[in-house]
Amino acid sequence: MRKVLNFPTQVDVLGTMRIIIFGPPGAGKGTISASLIKRFGIPQVSTGDLLRESIRKMDDIGRKAKPFMDEGQLVPDEIVIALLSGRLHQPDALQGFILDGFPRTLNQAEELKQFAGIEHVLNLKSSRQVIMKRLSGRRTCSKCNAIYHITNLPPKKEGICDKCGGALFQRNDDNPKTIAKRLKAYRLQTMPLIKYYRKEGILKDIDGEQQSIQKIVDDCIKAIENG
Ligand code: AMP
Repeated sequence: MRKVLNFPTQVDVLGTMRIIIFGPPGAGKGTISASLIKRFGIPQVSTGDLLRESIRKMDDIGRKAKPFMDEGQLVPDEIVIALLSGRLHQPDALQGFILDGFPRTLNQAEELKQFAGIEHVLNLKSSRQVIMKRLSGRRTCSKCNAIYHITNLPPKKEGICDKCGGALFQRNDDNPKTIAKRLKAYRLQTMPLIKYYRKEGILKDIDGEQQSIQKIVDDCIKAIENG
C-alpha cells in the first residue's frame, strides 16, 4: 500500500522523475541511488539486483543469466529488457525511478525509449584504480541488497547488515579476474551510451571519486534540480 504523506514529495512538485545513474561497475551507482531514492520518493531499479534475485530463486531467467554473470559478460538484451519492462510497469514506478545498471547497450537504450522517457542521466566518473579497490572490498546484504565496504563503509557488526540484520556476502563476480572482464564489457558495450545521452542533452557528469558519499549525492541532487 502506498504510504500517505502529508507533505508534497519532489515527484509531486516536479512531475515524473525518470533518472538513469550511469557509470562503470564500482562507480558507486548502487550506494548513491540508495540515497537519492529517499530524497525523491521513487524506487531504485537495479537490473543486477533483479537478475541476482532470479538466480536466488533459480527461475527461468536466473538459469539463463547465471553463466553470463559468472563470466562478467552482459546478459543478452532480450532477457534483461523483458525483466526491466515488467518491473517498470509496477505501480510504484509509474511516477519515476532511478535505473541502476540499465541500459548497458545502445539497443537497450533504444528499447527503453519505447516505454519510458528519461529526464536525467547522471554519469558517475571514477578511475580504474579506485574501482578495483571499491569492488574488491564490497560486501552486499543477502536480504535487502544494502551495500557496504570493508574499509570505506563497514557495517557496525562485521558480516551483518545494519539495516535489516541480513548476512553480508561478497558477490561472485567481485574478484579481480571477473572485474577486469566487466570493465572491458563496460568500455566496449556501454561507454558509447555516454555520447548517445550527451547528444540528447540530458547527461550530467558527476565526480564519483570524492571521499564523501554525501558530497557526491549532493552533486547529483543539484544536477537533477537544476535540470
Ligand atoms: P551490476 O549489479 O549492475 O554490476 O550487474 C551485475 C551483472 O549483471 C553484470 O555484470 C551483467 O552480467 C548483468 N547485468 C546487469 N544489468 C545488465 C544489463 N542492463 N544488461 C546486461 N547484463 C546486465
